[in-house]
Amino acid sequence: MTDKQNDNEVPEDIAAYEGDSDVQIFGDRESEVRSYSRNWPDVFDSSKGVRLTTESGEQYLDFFGGAGALNYGHNDDDLKAALLEYIERDGITHSLDKFTVAKREFLQTFTDKILEPRGLDYKVMFPGPTGTNAVESALKLARKVTGREAILNFTNSFHGMTLGSLSVTGNSMKRAGAGVPLVHATPMPYDNYFGGITEDFQWMERVLEDSGSGINRPAAVIVECVQGEGGINAARAEWLRALNDLCVRHDILLIVDDVQMGCGRTGEFFSFEFAGIKPDIVTLSKSIGGYGLPLALTLFRPDLDVWAAGEHNGTFRGNNLAFVTAAKALDKFWSDDKLQKHTLANGEWLREFFGKLVEKYPEELELRGRGMAFGIAFTKRPELAEEVLAGCFDRKLLVETAGPNDEVVKFLAPLVISREDLEEGSKICYDVIDELLSA
Ligand code: PMP
Repeated sequence: MTDKQNDNEVPEDIAAYEGDSDVQIFGDRESEVRSYSRNWPDVFDSSKGVRLTTESGEQYLDFFGGAGALNYGHNDDDLKAALLEYIERDGITHSLDKFTVAKREFLQTFTDKILEPRGLDYKVMFPGPTGTNAVESALKLARKVTGREAILNFTNSFHGMTLGSLSVTGNSMKRAGAGVPLVHATPMPYDNYFGGITEDFQWMERVLEDSGSGINRPAAVIVECVQGEGGINAARAEWLRALNDLCVRHDILLIVDDVQMGCGRTGEFFSFEFAGIKPDIVTLSKSIGGYGLPLALTLFRPDLDVWAAGEHNGTFRGNNLAFVTAAKALDKFWSDDKLQKHTLANGEWLREFFGKLVEKYPEELELRGRGMAFGIAFTKRPELAEEVLAGCFDRKLLVETAGPNDEVVKFLAPLVISREDLEEGSKICYDVIDELLSA
């Protein structure tokens, strides 16, 4: 037993709290594993659009967006109305994978609004309702289809906290939590890992072609087109295309994990669209439920659908409440390209606005990301990113950090955010950084 919390020690999120609410029960009863409360020690009660309100009436502007689960904002009126109507009429809530009207409507809307317009013919699997469930099922399927066990993943990747997903995740602290060896995955350098000095694919191409390299022939490669938890690292379109070609040449399945970057975060619905590739398997979760309700999908080419009935299952697969809000969200936000354009325009504005800060402190800062996946990396003094988070919280703005050393200030603001609100929050963050760096 190491690092055990001293019984007399007050947890940091309780000690930091100075408001009117009572937080004692969290300190006394909730496990030390909680983390976001340590950055934001307040008690939140209601939310609307891009703002959260605490029980004492303080308002916070949300640039965190439920870690990517709230692309359409908090408690959207139309989604809420559809949900309330469904609940009011005693629509089925729990159904495992039985056929339901809500599931049919979701599948039809997903086909009409997302898959067909993009020329994508994927079968849809409902694993358990979290991102890691989708990743686990994707890895299992790739292994079953190919009869191979090795998976290639990338430096600084994040795919979830269950053992299979952890095995393809880079972060050493998270990996250490597994308590057992994490095997059958080999990390490869992500785009720009060597700062553009070494040809990015040289190592990967070489080890796959060299029978003496010690790499077993992989079943699949799993990749995020923009690494969220890993520091908002955006892969270039040509890098993704080269990865896709490599997979085709070596008969390896390509899995794109779009749990965080899907549902419009980078502009287009899927984060891989801009590269013109069609992955064999895609994982989606977070914002697919539309309202912050749990839902996950594993999408794959029809010829890969080799599952036996029930071979992968889970009690909470058919989350009908999430099917209702998911279908409504797709209908509302993906029947035209308005949201996509809004996202890209807001993303450009962010880069221009914070570009001025990078010009002022070129040695200290670097901008990261694509679309509304946006990061400000503290390249010289990584520890400052946490201070920015705290400074923003003091000024009623929620932003989180990402990257192997938590060195990147990360924005995942709801995509529906107005320019006015985006400017308000960005100005707060700009000032906090400017004050820190000019001190
Ligand atoms: N994949 C990616 C790319 C993610 O960002 C996350 C969550 N941050 C996951 C998988 C895991 O999702 P969940 O936390 O819902 O299991």
